[in-house]
Amino acid sequence: MFESLSQRIEEAVHKLKGKGRITEVNVASTIKDIRRALIDADVNYKIAKQVTDDIKVEALGRKVLKSLAPGQVLIKIVHEKLTELMGGKPQEANLKGSPAIVLMAGLQGSGKTTFSGKLANLIQQKQHKKVLLVACDVYRPAAIEQLKVVGEQIGVEVYAEPDNKNPVAIAQNAVEHAKTHHYKVVVVDTAGRLAIDEVMMLEIAQIKAAIQPSETLFVVDAMTGQDAVNTAKAFNERIDFDGVVLTKMDGDTRGGAALSIRAVVDKPIKFIGTGEQMRALDTFRPEGMAGRILD
Ligand code: GDP
Repeated sequence: MFESLSQRIEEAVHKLKGKGRITEVNVASTIKDIRRALIDADVNYKIAKQVTDDIKVEALGRKVLKSLAPGQVLIKIVHEKLTELMGGKPQEANLKGSPAIVLMAGLQGSGKTTFSGKLANLIQQKQHKKVLLVACDVYRPAAIEQLKVVGEQIGVEVYAEPDNKNPVAIAQNAVEHAKTHHYKVVVVDTAGRLAIDEVMMLEIAQIKAAIQPSETLFVVDAMTGQDAVNTAKAFNERIDFDGVVLTKMDGDTRGGAALSIRAVVDKPIKFIGTGEQMRALDTFRPEGMAGRILD
């Protein structure tokens, strides 16, 4: 299939060496190759340009081309740069508060309900905390059912009010319910639409204001490439979320969306979804993702 970014860098550097004299102009063409490869991996153009401009400065500074294995050194620089741009270190969700409240936001089909279950499962299994899942989708009865199925699967209670059409009230009632029954963490799943729309944005903003979550996570399908970046931007402007969940990373996406989203909204990616099963959840690791983009 595709040649990997690492291979392309190696080849470009190899071509350079063949030219005998290595100049800044020559390096520029290698940098262009890297930029093209990043764009192929779904990194948006502006970000790819910014990254490669930085890489160029770094590469010239470190005298890459005088080293014994310039291709390897350049790959290392690219890896370091990508890691740094994606935040360097893994970042955890903030589960402070009693109860801690985690609010999900994102388009329909992005994987919110699935991720809500995965997160509830993780908290319950690893931290042994009592978790409550909340169904706040008042438009699709099937959404409530879906969350209930998930809850049953992982042994977590699901709070729903099928006859209540006010998602803000449901969320508030759920938090009260959690306090009364000593739940430590509340995970609120919300309604999404197929595209960004004003009613959805207003609703999620109102829920957020009413329950003041310690963590608001924006869930996005990594397979949607550039759309993922635009959606992230729109949601962030409206609800100022705390972190991003990239789902469907088990697909054949190269992961460039991670880099673009991070750069555009300047919020950390905290989790990745790697399958439909409840255990298919990982902490986002910038270094690993940089490796994936390069591979
Ligand atoms: P919601 O509308 O945002 O609540 O999205 P859902 O949780 O219903 O997910 C939509 C579809 O994507 C479902 O078929 C899920 O099984 C699937 N899905 C969610 N997360 C992942 C993931 O990480 N990998 C894969 N392959 N499928 C996923």
